[in-house]
Amino acid sequence: MTVKIGIMGYGTIGKRIADAVMRMDDMELIGVIKQTPDYEGEVAISKGIKLYTYEDRVNKFEKAGIRVTGTINDLIKNVDVIIDATPDGVGAENKAKIYEPLGLRAIFQGGEEAEVADTSFNALANYDMAIGKRFIRVVSCNTTALSRLIGAFLIHGYKIRKVRAYLVRRGADPREFKKGPINDVVFNPATVPSHHGPDVQTVIPTIDIITMAVAVPTTMMHLHMVNIEFDGQVSKGEIMKILEETPRILLFNSASRKIESLAQIIEWARDLGRLRGDVMENALIEDSITVFQNELFLMQGVHQESIVVPENIDAVRAMFKLSSKWDSIRKTDLRLNLIT
Ligand code: NAD
Repeated sequence: MTVKIGIMGYGTIGKRIADAVMRMDDMELIGVIKQTPDYEGEVAISKGIKLYTYEDRVNKFEKAGIRVTGTINDLIKNVDVIIDATPDGVGAENKAKIYEPLGLRAIFQGGEEAEVADTSFNALANYDMAIGKRFIRVVSCNTTALSRLIGAFLIHGYKIRKVRAYLVRRGADPREFKKGPINDVVFNPATVPSHHGPDVQTVIPTIDIITMAVAVPTTMMHLHMVNIEFDGQVSKGEIMKILEETPRILLFNSASRKIESLAQIIEWARDLGRLRGDVMENALIEDSITVFQNELFLMQGVHQESIVVPENIDAVRAMFKLSSKWDSIRKTDLRLNLIT
């Protein structure tokens, strides 16, 4: 089966998912729904992506000289699922106004409340929970990174007593010129836990996790400082083996490779020629991996713009029962060149 996909919202996340869908042989990108005629629409057309818009906006596109293939109604009757990558809260509105009344399936992003979907999703941690579901929510960038990390140990049978994670969040994405901070460290909301811990529990309900978060003036990546307490002693050797073997986790050794900052990790991806300089894996700082008896400490970089892209692809396979968890993860990673 080839799943026919429409993408609603063609911003930071939507355009990356569109490119990823086009690389899959079991999915077909029918088109994307855009609200505004702009440079991103022009680029999409140059890549062969069909644009659709709302009926009352067709004129705007025509005036701007950007060709639309049709209206949202034309797209919707030709797709099996909509991947909704609109801003926080719009996905829930779309569900009520469009997807539910028309009997459509949809995949939402982490800016929506968990209640929008039948399940929250991370491929490594809970792929099987999403099999056959009509509405799936791919959790946010921070939650994806934490779920992968915790999931890596749980799938090997490790028992985790608790996770404590401190998140240094990027202030904005690179193209968001109106957002900040530009000279501050923002602690609001300072409440503990930050929303990230409870969000991880929507994927791994049994995990004891507490998170704290601040936002800083960078657009590069988030940085997590994570402490995992296991039920019993662990060795650095076994931890390293698991992290090295887990898909979508990459180790960066700053001592030997002279990668000393998040900017250099992005530069590494750009130098490799990765599309947009994306790093879809957890970027684990190898030198930070430290084990004291039953406790693990580490730092990881999280490329907010791209880390959820492979999970959206896997969510489609789970929804349509196209592949088992590991087959899907392998296929996605091969086609996105994440396996080197
Ligand atoms: P974005 O603002 O970059 O893109 C959203 C796009 O949707 C914009 O192009 C906007 O014009 C369009 N849009 C808005 N309303 C629309 C509508 N009714 N119909 C069609 N298009 C509409 O946002 P983003 O960063 O890509 O975030 C999308 C979702 O992904 C959010 O839930 C967000 O929380 C989540 N997410 C974002 C990041 C990130 O760091 N950017 C990371 C992980 C998850």
